[in-house]
Amino acid sequence: MIPSILPTYNRAPIDFASGQGSWLLDAQGRRFLDLGAGIAVNVLGHSHPDLIKALTDQAHSVWHTSNLYGIPRQQELADKLVDATFADTVFFCNSGTEACELAVKMARKYFFEKGQAERTDIITFEGSFHGRSSAGIAAAASEKLTQGFGPLLPGFVNLPFGDHDALTEAVSDTTAAILIEPIQGEGGIRPVPDQCLKGLRDFCDSHELLLIFDEVQCGVGRTGKLFAHEWAGVEPDIMMVAKGIGGGFPLGCVLATEDAASGMTAGTHGSTYGGNPLGCAVGSAVMDIVAEDEFLQNVNWKSGLFRQGLERLVDAYPHVFDCVVGSGLMLGLKCSNVANTEFVAKGYDALVLTVPASENVVRILPALNIPDEDIQAAFGRLEAAAKAVGAS
Ligand SMILES: *Cc1c(COP(=O)(O)O)cnc(C)c1O
Repeated sequence: MIPSILPTYNRAPIDFASGQGSWLLDAQGRRFLDLGAGIAVNVLGHSHPDLIKALTDQAHSVWHTSNLYGIPRQQELADKLVDATFADTVFFCNSGTEACELAVKMARKYFFEKGQAERTDIITFEGSFHGRSSAGIAAAASEKLTQGFGPLLPGFVNLPFGDHDALTEAVSDTTAAILIEPIQGEGGIRPVPDQCLKGLRDFCDSHELLLIFDEVQCGVGRTGKLFAHEWAGVEPDIMMVAKGIGGGFPLGCVLATEDAASGMTAGTHGSTYGGNPLGCAVGSAVMDIVAEDEFLQNVNWKSGLFRQGLERLVDAYPHVFDCVVGSGLMLGLKCSNVANTEFVAKGYDALVLTVPASENVVRILPALNIPDEDIQAAFGRLEAAAKAVGAS
């Protein structure tokens, strides 16, 4: 009999009753160290007092009014995002996949308005992930995501990761944009080298294409800059954001330059819940903390600490791990002779939560404010999982 929850997930046999900082407690009172943060979502850990206050204060004033009226909380958050980034304007939605929908629509509308309606194709890369909507799966194009769901939304050209010649060959007079994650998350924590991001920017400029960054996973402080592309010193025309921006409250957005957004006039796009006061109150509180230089410096410090310990672990368990990948607090342990899912499962016994990704990688995506002592606690638990997986 089909479960009452549609069984699209293979769930671990654990459920949590409460959370505090980097820790989650189950009903039996077991304390799990959370190095997954709800897949890079809980950037400030669980039960952060500022986020609780922002949410509950807003809950006592007004929950929802729709975008038929002004929403002061939305304005406040949009201004913060515009101030802190390349963007001139922001559209709010509720998830990463919805951000992908608008990014695609915006790019196509841009060329339509310029009298180049034939420019509809978006170049994407193998191993990418852009959400589960029809556009999102067509963009990522992997069989795992698309099989059985055809016909797929047309207009995506999926290329091998890091193949410059393929890119040069693929561009044509129907190309509108390039869509890329500066660091692939689901794809196995695969960073795009700074040089390549620079190269893509130049390529887009010389072919008059729009450059779209999907920072749904790597953004919002995750790499030690507010957005990952800042490390490369290049800016996109359009950027998708979700996951961390709501700190656990469903919130996503698309940031864009004035030029890239110029086709999106009244009536061209919408969302009933998008930019809802509750979500924006929380997002605004997240930005107040995460966008601070000192906070981001701390992410870099914690990243160094984490990396050192993970490198030691890899050295000590070469039959389990191949290497450490990633940057900031978007880290991964690439497994060698064991399956990443096996390691993640042994982690549950060792009371540590990690997240599998492609390329046999175990993702480490802790809260960005994880205390140093919790990072130290992580090593013992990860080692216990490595021992257990090595022994089996
Ligand atoms: C998670 C993710 C998405 C999809 O976000 P949802 O909120 O699950 O729809 C899109 N792009 C990237 C890079 C992601 O990691």
